[in-house]
Amino acid sequence: MAKSAPFVWLDGKLVPWEQATMHVATECVLRGENVFEGIRAYWSEAEQELFLFKHAEHIARLRQGAKIMRMTIPYTDAQIEAASLELIRACGYRGQVHYRPVAYFDMGNLTDYLPSEIRTGMFILAFSTPTTKQVHEGVTTCVSTWRRNSDLASPSRVKSGANYHNSRLAYIEARLNGFQIPILLNAAGKVAEGPGACFMMVRNGKIITPPVTADILESITRETLIGLVQAELGLEVIEREIDRTELYICDEAFFCGSGHEITPINSVDHYPVGEGKPGAITRRIQKLYFDVVCGAVPKYRHWLTPVWGGASRAAAE
Ligand code: PMP
Repeated sequence: MAKSAPFVWLDGKLVPWEQATMHVATECVLRGENVFEGIRAYWSEAEQELFLFKHAEHIARLRQGAKIMRMTIPYTDAQIEAASLELIRACGYRGQVHYRPVAYFDMGNLTDYLPSEIRTGMFILAFSTPTTKQVHEGVTTCVSTWRRNSDLASPSRVKSGANYHNSRLAYIEARLNGFQIPILLNAAGKVAEGPGACFMMVRNGKIITPPVTADILESITRETLIGLVQAELGLEVIEREIDRTELYICDEAFFCGSGHEITPINSVDHYPVGEGKPGAITRRIQKLYFDVVCGAVPKYRHWLTPVWGGASRAAAE
């Protein structure tokens, strides 16, 4: 059964799930011409409140992607935030949520590519999405035979639906070969990222992650962790190219992303990573990240936007 939700926000209003449809001739449907975000909202049991995590940073990235695509998003940041809150509240979520604001190209003639020639619409999906078993237990991975989209062809920096054709090919290959998640190298043969998350590894107590010029998405989680682990755990973070064979000898490794959160990597191409189970540093980073996103660390509360504004606390009392 596919996931569903009570409502979708579509072009300015909430509509029941069944009515959130789009014409088959839109560029969005035909060619995946959209730019989107995947953002989590975290539930704080202590405060009985739901918090959007780094919503503004995600919308800033959405606009960067739209700029590269020469797409004009017809809503302000304030309108997108209000719409996201309206949708999540309408769905009544009081637990972890993953929501996706999507700006899309509507119908046009064959070469109507200029923003003035084709309408841009927007929709937002929001699902109840608890943390997966994979985040607790870790995953098996392989190096994909597919290369990550090059910045010179279909830039990975743009979070466009069309780019996920590349992720999908890699995912399917990995799954058919008995692995859970692939790791994609870029055209230069260096480690890029996972199909839906960035990559980090630990070698000799240092965190190493590919630079933003390695054909990766400029991940909000990656950026968050680079700051957090240095400031809060005193760990050095190095942004540099990573060779394939380093994957086989690193001490720990994990994917990071809004959706995948912090997913430990237990093996790569059947080589165990460390002891073949989530490592101690990865566990410390997970703990820190989950504390921060749930609002337990006052210093980082400015990254959070409350959804209910105390309403659900009042309801619970
Ligand atoms: N890379 C890809 C290809 C992704 O789809 C995602 C998920 N948005 C990420 C990295 C992680 O990005 P973020 O931390 O902003 O969610």
